[in-house]
Amino acid sequence: MTNPHDARTILITGAGSGIGKATAERFHNEGWSVALVDRDEEHGRRAAEALSRDGATCAFFRCDVSDEADVAALLEDVTAELGGIDAAFNNAGIEGEQGATTECTADNFDRIIAVNLRGVWLCLRAELKHMAQQGHGVIVNCSSVAGLIGMPGIPAYVASKHGVIGLTRTAALEHARQNIRVNAVCPGAIETPMLERYMSSTEGGREAMEATEPVGRIGHPEEIADAVFWLCSDRASFVTGHALPVDGGWTAG
Ligand code: NAP
Repeated sequence: MTNPHDARTILITGAGSGIGKATAERFHNEGWSVALVDRDEEHGRRAAEALSRDGATCAFFRCDVSDEADVAALLEDVTAELGGIDAAFNNAGIEGEQGATTECTADNFDRIIAVNLRGVWLCLRAELKHMAQQGHGVIVNCSSVAGLIGMPGIPAYVASKHGVIGLTRTAALEHARQNIRVNAVCPGAIETPMLERYMSSTEGGREAMEATEPVGRIGHPEEIADAVFWLCSDRASFVTGHALPVDGGWTAG
C-alpha cells in the first residue's frame, strides 16, 4: 500500500480528538494498524476502543509529546506492541492563549513552543532513528496556515508552526537517501474542538472564520486525513520536504 515494504502501521499523536482522531479512522478504514497517542487518557482510549471493535489492531499509548522520557518510552512501547511503525503523523498541538506579541507572556510562549515545536521534534527524532534502522518510513508533521503566513494575536503559535516546517525540510534533506520521506500538512480552519475554542473566544468568531476562508466554509477533519493519507502513500513517492496547504485557498491570496 504505502511503500515497497508494504507499510501498514502508523503512529498518530493527538489522536484522541479532532484532526488526529479523523486521521486514525481514515488509516484504520484502509486496513492499517494504528498507534493512537494522546496525553488525554480518556479521549485516547475511547478513540482506540471504537476502532478496535472492527477487529483491526488499534492501540492507545499515553504520552505527553513535550516530555523527552515519555517520547523515548513511546517508541519502545509501540514497537513492543505493534512491531514498529512505518509511518507517523506528528499532529498533537495546542493553541495557547491569544494576545499580541507585546502581550504574550513567557509562560504562554514556552508552553506553546514546548508542545507544538519541541514535541514535534522529539517525536520526529525518535521516529527517524527507528525508520533509519529499518530502512524505510514516511512522516507527516502538522503545521498550519500559521506556518506559512503571519497572524496577528497568536505570535507563539505562528512561530511554532513556522518552526515545524523548518524541521520538516531539514529532516527530509537529512534522510532523503534513506528511503524516508518527511512532509508537513498545513490545515486552514478545520472544525475541531481547538477551532471551536478559538472561534468562541470572540463574538462572531465563526462568521469571521468562514469569511476568511476563500471557499466560504470551514474544513472537515476528514479533509486533512485524506491529505495525510496521500502523503503517506506511494502515490506521493517523489514528494518530500514539502509543506502542503489544505486550507480552502487561505494562503493563495
Ligand atoms: P484538538 O481537537 O484540540 O486535538 C488535539 C489533540 O492533541 C488533543 O487530544 C490534545 O489533548 C492532544 N494534545 C495536546 N497536547 C498534547 C501533548 N503535549 N501530548 C500529547 N497530546 C497532546 O485540535 P485539532 O484542531 O485537531 O489540532 C490538531 C493539530 O492541527 C494541531 O497541531 C493544530 O495546531 C493543527 N491545526 C489545527 C487547525 C484547526 O483549525 N483545527 C488548523 C491548523 C492547524 P488535550 O485535549 O488534552 O489538549
